[in-house]
Amino acid sequence: MPERYPHLKEQDPEIYALIQKQAAYEASTLKMIASENYASYSVLEATGSSLTNKYAEGYPAARYYEGNEVIDEVENLCINRLKQVFGAEHANVQPLSGSPANSAVYRAVMAGAEKVMGMPVNLGGHLTHGWKVNFSGMDYTQVPFGPSPETGLLDYDQIREIAKAERPRMIWCGATAYPRRIDYEKFAEIAAEVDAYLVADIAHISGLIAGGALPSPVPYCDIVTSTTHKMMRGPRSGFILCKEADRYQEKYYPTSKFNLAKRIDRAVFPGLQGGPHENVIAAMAVAFGEALKPEFKDYAAQVIKNARHLGECLVKEGINLATGGTDTHMLLLDFRKEEFTGKDMSDALAKAGIIANFNMVPGDQRKPAVTSGVRMGTGALTTMGMKEKDMEQVASWIVRIVRAMPDASAVSAQIRGEVAEYCKQFKVPGLWEE
Ligand SMILES: *Cc1c(COP(=O)(O)O)cnc(C)c1O
Repeated sequence: MPERYPHLKEQDPEIYALIQKQAAYEASTLKMIASENYASYSVLEATGSSLTNKYAEGYPAARYYEGNEVIDEVENLCINRLKQVFGAEHANVQPLSGSPANSAVYRAVMAGAEKVMGMPVNLGGHLTHGWKVNFSGMDYTQVPFGPSPETGLLDYDQIREIAKAERPRMIWCGATAYPRRIDYEKFAEIAAEVDAYLVADIAHISGLIAGGALPSPVPYCDIVTSTTHKMMRGPRSGFILCKEADRYQEKYYPTSKFNLAKRIDRAVFPGLQGGPHENVIAAMAVAFGEALKPEFKDYAAQVIKNARHLGECLVKEGINLATGGTDTHMLLLDFRKEEFTGKDMSDALAKAGIIANFNMVPGDQRKPAVTSGVRMGTGALTTMGMKEKDMEQVASWIVRIVRAMPDASAVSAQIRGEVAEYCKQFKVPGLWEE
């Protein structure tokens, strides 16, 4: 490991050692948590910059503190690059992460305890789409929908029926655990039929959309939210894109003088947050700059090629996948028929240095604390430089572990060494010198 933080090392060797320890762990294991990635050195440097020292409550040219001329340039650059990446009318880059971005959306389009249509967590949705233990399920009423337990696919006729029967004020399309393309045009038709706001949550896949490898929801949705640290490869943060005008202004906000873009901005600040993290906003601008480069298209395409190939290799060896495959970076391995659980399997994988997570799969009968599935993604491995032939190696490790279950400890221990050795040929940005 290179020594990268000379001041920290000198002043606080305890934290320095822990950072190095985690870096060494990540560099010798396979980061296959589908929501994780490796940010570039440039993103890390901007995140760690002195911009962290500035208070900038408000928005560019409308700040509550003096001395923000340069900060305005940073934030405007970030906004303009983001709008360029997605072809969006309006962008807010201040949400501190994905969940705060989603909470701002509620504040901007929901008046009281209305109905919100979203996927429950056990069906692949996010906590903030109306799940009961989250503010979104406590303050609003979730109208649930989800993929078919048989096929694992969304059924748009069923979604339309539910929407027409329940008439939600807002519909979330987007997921944390759904490996297939989402048909935003269909969702838009349904939302229009029931006068609902349509919000796409592209937290996982925004980088794949930015790289042109998946279709964009921007033309079809009132609002789009995302994190920036998943396939977008930026710092931990979030953003909101929206149309300027509210198509339901007359119906839902007849007396308001604020259009949709203004309500989103006001919901973020002063509605929910104080000072924005301008160091992180600078790092987001760096990531959006990277996403505008031609290489990012290659990255996004390769992520999906890798996921598809990994899936095919696993299916060939008799491992079931929810929906049978993937259109994205994500695979949902389906162990419903096995004696062992998703948790058993993710533990065995982790012991082998393959870091993923146990996850509910469509039709799962096991409890959320154990599940029958494992979710994995190829975003970080692709950032390391892995290609299809590397996926064959990864698949063969996974298969060996599955074959050894329920007690894979000896096999996992052996594979752990092989994984660490294999990782040495790749350069991990932020962990190893480039
Ligand atoms: C990751 C994720 C979020 C939330 O992101 P945090 O940054 O963890 O708050 C929101 N929605 C979806 C669909 C996600 O996958």
